[in-house]
Amino acid sequence: MPLLTDLNRPYWTAGADGKWRLQRCSDCKRLIHPPALRCPHDHGTPEYVELSGRGLVETWTVNRHQFFPGFAPPYVIAFVTPVEDDRVRVLTNLVNVEPDDVTAGMAVRVTFQRFVDDEDEVFIPLFEPVL
Ligand SMILES: [Zn+2]
Repeated sequence: MPLLTDLNRPYWTAGADGKWRLQRCSDCKRLIHPPALRCPHDHGTPEYVELSGRGLVETWTVNRHQFFPGFAPPYVIAFVTPVEDDRVRVLTNLVNVEPDDVTAGMAVRVTFQRFVDDEDEVFIPLFEPVL
């Protein structure tokens, strides 16, 4: 479970309806990630916007060691850029793909993994290849 704060809560819970959302600056229109109180470029006000859920793999690594219970290796850790703005990147995991089949620029789409604990329900954005 990610540690939820007032700032990041919308990011981790926005996937409840299957839509991927990131902040966008109301002034310069750049996407912003990780969640910020102000645009890092011009200090504009971020607002959450709905995206297509499509992205491209920028870079990745394959984790072959068990660091955390419940995360069975191997798994793929990647930076994905949303098709709406390739100047922002999101750290995520790739799923439903063999690690050796991942390529730079591979087209991916969002899928959400739901987690629930005593207080919160979160939807982790993960990405899978577009077939
Ligand atoms: Zn801005």
